[in-house]
Amino acid sequence: MSAPDLELVLATANPDKAAEIQAILETAGVTVVPRPRWVPEVPETGSTLLENARLKAVSLQVATGRAAVADDTGLEVEALGGAPGVYSARYAGEGASYADNVAKLLDELDRVPDGRRRAKFVAIAFVSFPDHSELWETGVVEGEISLWPRGLGGFGYDPVFVPDEGDGRTFAEMSTAEKHTVSHRGRAFGALAARLAAPAG
Ligand code: IMP
Repeated sequence: MSAPDLELVLATANPDKAAEIQAILETAGVTVVPRPRWVPEVPETGSTLLENARLKAVSLQVATGRAAVADDTGLEVEALGGAPGVYSARYAGEGASYADNVAKLLDELDRVPDGRRRAKFVAIAFVSFPDHSELWETGVVEGEISLWPRGLGGFGYDPVFVPDEGDGRTFAEMSTAEKHTVSHRGRAFGALAARLAAPAG
């Protein structure tokens, strides 16, 4: 791919996500730099994933004067009417741990049998440029919520998410590279990388 000589300031401070996003965007010749420590984390006050991703990218772009990239992810569970969705990070309450959120999800699905536990991860990858132009892509992975947690890898809801495009293992039972060949974030940033690498016009 061509190298557009682009540098993007990254909104997320989550080291797992940062490493993964960096690896994907590097394939488009994009250099990712961490968010300066003096720029505070932006509260996710939007009512959609797109609003939150835009909020984070635009705030960072305005604070630094540089092109910025942000992402927002939600887990949408069919039997729960799309919950936890935009509230995925705080499903079990403000400051909830990953384990708290997973426990709440399994509780809510307690009476939902295997085969009716459909879910998808949706991720938005969003870039805000200093000229106020914007670019974003969505990535989706469909799957099922397992009956109990399995695996030690990944983070968040990975121990209970079994992607359709797999062999029955949860994301937490896969290597990081394996997970991101089909993951929501892998797809959103892969699509973004392709657009950033494409010649303008
Ligand atoms: P964020 O908006 O990307 O911070 O994601 C919100 C919440 O979704 C996180 O706190 C995690 O619980 C969950 N999440 C995001 N990405 C993943 C993933 O790749 N695997 C499992 N859970 C995730």
